Amino acid sequence: MPTEPKMYLNGKIVDYADCKIHAFASVVKYGTGVFEGLRGYWNADAKQLYIFRLREHMERIRFGMKAMRYADVPSLEELERSIIEVSRANAIRATTHYRMIAYLDGDDELSTTGPTGIVVGAVVRGSSPRVENGMAAMISSYTRIADNAMPPRVKCTANYVNNRAAELEAKAGGYDGALMLTGEGKLSEASGACCFLVRNGRLITPDLSSDILESITRETVIELARTKLGLTVEERRIDRSEIAASDEMFACGSGWEVVPILSVGRIDVGDGKPGPVTRSIQQSYFDVVHGRTNAHANWLTPVW
Ligand code: PMP
Repeated sequence: MPTEPKMYLNGKIVDYADCKIHAFASVVKYGTGVFEGLRGYWNADAKQLYIFRLREHMERIRFGMKAMRYADVPSLEELERSIIEVSRANAIRATTHYRMIAYLDGDDELSTTGPTGIVVGAVVRGSSPRVENGMAAMISSYTRIADNAMPPRVKCTANYVNNRAAELEAKAGGYDGALMLTGEGKLSEASGACCFLVRNGRLITPDLSSDILESITRETVIELARTKLGLTVEERRIDRSEIAASDEMFACGSGWEVVPILSVGRIDVGDGKPGPVTRSIQQSYFDVVHGRTNAHANWLTPVW
């Protein structure tokens, strides 16, 4: 799955091969990068590429740079423009996953706060087969990082040592992916996605103090569930045992989209098949992101 040939590096479109930073940049040694993953959806009828919730993703990366004490934080407009420029430079007319990394470029000690670099690349990529088929998850033996240590709300590169450990452990154990628990043993999130349970027709998701990323897809799902599907949504602490008591479970994220979780630790969730509530959330989500409904047009930024 190659990155498209034209990338964005600090204000310029460059060839993939020239998109380089110094090996002694702070980001390499200390993991001081902040990143985003977002999608553009191709609508063949409208002949339009819609970037989904561009503004919210750029606001989140700016928040991350502030929380990481970056001396310079690029403007929203500059960041938004970089995504559009990469789309246009590669003449993208297909569903795409964009990766943006803000990084500290200085060769200095631990307390380096600049200069700020920005890199953007695009990978043309549709949905994973998991969106249709679902996945088997395990509860990781790795505890989710805590807000007062390495805040999961900040999407910084160093945090992902935790997610990576959980994901590789799950794969080594023959699972498709991992769910992590907080230090107090409550459900937190998946390695790259937030999660929801469905119980008696209600959606239940870990609250924002359950050491999760403030996921834009999570917020989207909550909004669609309430307004389009008329569902009650609870944001609260979730005991591990409540998973086995649930009828359905799914994970959601910009890259993952909406993925049914069919079992956890080889115990089926519900009957171990993608359930009707999950399917209706998927349908609403894909309608909105492709611009097949006018209801949330403000979430879409057209490229062409
Ligand atoms: N949690 C983690 C740990 C993630 O890496 C992601 C992906 N960004 C998510 C949740 C989902 O966030 P979003 O919906 O904003 O993509």
